[in-house]
Amino acid sequence: NSFESSGLRTYILDNVKKSGYATPTPVQKHAIPIIMDKRDLMACAQTGSGKTAAFLLPIIHVLLNEPQDLVLDSEHCEPQAVIISPTRELTLQIFNEARKFSHGSMVKTVVAYGGTAAYHQAQQVMRGCHILVATPGRLIDFVNRGRITFSSLRYFVLDEADRMLDLGFLPEIEKMMSHPTMVEMGLRQTLMFSATFPEEIQRLAWKFLNNYLFLAV
Ligand code: AMP
Repeated sequence: NSFESSGLRTYILDNVKKSGYATPTPVQKHAIPIIMDKRDLMACAQTGSGKTAAFLLPIIHVLLNEPQDLVLDSEHCEPQAVIISPTRELTLQIFNEARKFSHGSMVKTVVAYGGTAAYHQAQQVMRGCHILVATPGRLIDFVNRGRITFSSLRYFVLDEADRMLDLGFLPEIEKMMSHPTMVEMGLRQTLMFSATFPEEIQRLAWKFLNNYLFLAV
């Protein structure tokens, strides 16, 4: 029950230590090995459980350990990991944690959220990134404009899925996950986090997760 025994790179462990995390929280203890094992995951976890690091640490580990070419062109962005969260505040928190854990590495993270002019964010996005953290509306807007494609996607994370449902985002997210450029289930790893499990969330997991593990902490 330590970060050291998780198999994460020393580099990431150092950044974890610098963040002041001494021991993994329960969701981190169980989810990190599952994600490193390349399994899809549906996890029941509340805000405050440490779920953000639970998905970010293994994703950053794999991006560093098994790097794939980052496609850089000025026309559109092909992220290797997309993390969707329901609010601007949460999106910024995830973005800041991702930058903290990957600090000093080649992993590039970009954030996109609504409520502000799209121009500046579009400029950032189109310079390319490994990890994109976004709210659903802005992400869908960029996808529809062809600024983002999912053809290099390795990780798709849906955070706070039940809040997405409450906010009415699920139909759009389903549409996006069925987008022609979305890499097929089985090639990408999909991770869902939700505090509760209404039927709609179970159905979404059934539809978009591949042979997944269910974790409740
Ligand atoms: P989250 O549930 O991901 O929003 O995290 C809740 C808070 O717990 C955040 O402020 C994290 O920085 C903090 N946190 C996450 N994991 C740990 C850990 N292993 N030890 C101490 N604090 C943590």
